[in-house]
Amino acid sequence: RLQLVWFRSDLRVYDNAALVQAMSQGPTLAIFIACPDSWQQHDMAPIKQDLIRRRALALQQELAELQVPLLLAEGSDYEAVQDIFRALVPLGIGCVYSELEYELREQQRDQQLQAWLTEQGIDWWQCDRQTAFTPGRFVNGSGSMYQVFTPFKKRWLQALAEQELTVLPKPKPQQKMELALPQLPVFQPGNGSSKDWSVDSEELLQQLRDYCQSRVQLYKKQRDFPALDATSRLSPYLAVGALSVRQCIRRLQLEAGNAIWQAESGAAVWLSELIWRDFYKHVLVAWPELIKHQPFQKDTTAIRWRNDKTLFAAWCAGQTGYPLVDAAMRQLNQTGWMHNRLRMVVASFLVKDLHIDWRWGERYFMRQLIDGDFAANNGGWQWAASTGTDAAPYFRIFNPITQSERFDPKGHFIRNWLPELAAVPDAAIHWPHKLTNRNQYPAPVVDHAKARATTLELFQQARQQA
Ligand code: FAD
Repeated sequence: RLQLVWFRSDLRVYDNAALVQAMSQGPTLAIFIACPDSWQQHDMAPIKQDLIRRRALALQQELAELQVPLLLAEGSDYEAVQDIFRALVPLGIGCVYSELEYELREQQRDQQLQAWLTEQGIDWWQCDRQTAFTPGRFVNGSGSMYQVFTPFKKRWLQALAEQELTVLPKPKPQQKMELALPQLPVFQPGNGSSKDWSVDSEELLQQLRDYCQSRVQLYKKQRDFPALDATSRLSPYLAVGALSVRQCIRRLQLEAGNAIWQAESGAAVWLSELIWRDFYKHVLVAWPELIKHQPFQKDTTAIRWRNDKTLFAAWCAGQTGYPLVDAAMRQLNQTGWMHNRLRMVVASFLVKDLHIDWRWGERYFMRQLIDGDFAANNGGWQWAASTGTDAAPYFRIFNPITQSERFDPKGHFIRNWLPELAAVPDAAIHWPHKLTNRNQYPAPVVDHAKARATTLELFQQARQQA
């Protein structure tokens, strides 16, 4: 009987437990099913869809070197998945292998498929490896998942100290198979919008290695400055599973050695970000209602957001009159990626300066981001909106001008994305309104001090109602 690997959010040949397990059991075939209608329903950005399609094609070549045929199929939505599996049954599939996905619709899809596979007498082997340590492993004194990051991180680091994380090697090639493969709906290659991001496995590994060998050392010092290329930019690959988090951690351990245990080192701070990634996935598994965009802090449900559509449009377009916010939004719109410090700044601005429901921003981000990841995005938005686990307190409101002065002191990032401000001198770049006319650059859409006071009122009113 044939073993069938179903690739989903684990588009890689290295450290792929499903692939390794299948190939250890016998002749292996693989499949990837594009589901653009479902992707769109989940607000997946076109650029991320393109990255997935390009990566799936690269994966097909990499698997061909292992003599594992990868069937690429077009499935429109998750309903169509079963039909595609039905077409494979005559090949004599014994077992399906895949990596667990945590999101709600994916879980529902899997439950339906599981029932159907059982009827067909086909087994399903699933592994839980999207995170370094399995969700549910770390619990507090009362047996539930931590709501606060710091104790979670402490337990996580303790586990890392006690146990070496395994990274599975690329499997050895299997014997060539002669199979009469079924005709499946033809896979579309994508529009190339993500072409600036390599999809070649070896190049990604090289990028990870280079980062851990050198730039990571400056991470703590430089990571908050968007004009510097100081972060790894590996998020799109982690999001589509072209790289695993274990690969990142192992590589960091190999290159940085003991530095990962020295709290002040760049390596330790980078590791901490990977732990945030795990944290939000563990949070999602512990509180699955988050997937329905419920705030974690229930009293914030009562906040009466103003939801002004004109202000929202200005924010989306990068036309708020706040240069750092606008430069960041234009970076997002033009490239599908945004620097972490700026994600925090623009999220805070949308919620606490424009008084727009954080879910509007969450969705807009998902629709643009090449690294869109439900858990990290929801976690980031709820943090900024003071509605989440371990969120910023509601009275902590970023000042967009101060943030700009601190993190883009000479305005290099701003000028890069706002060419209309190219001639503005450094001293005025964070508040250029006396030097520019409105045709060049919009007047500020709100007054920060007044907006801040309104935010405090909105949160206090909601608390009184709760
Ligand atoms: P690095 O600084 O090099 O970090 C290494 C890796 O750690 C990242 O690739 C990422 O996988 C992980 N990571 C880093 N910071 C975080 C974090 N705060 N939370 C969770 N994981 C983190 N990240 C996403 O991957 N997808 C998203 O959809 C997403 N949406 C966000 C929305 C908001 C409002 C905020 C504040 C943050 C969001 N982040 C998201 C987290 C973070 O901004 C990005 O992971 C990071 O900017 C990616 O750049 P990098 O790969 O250079 O990161």
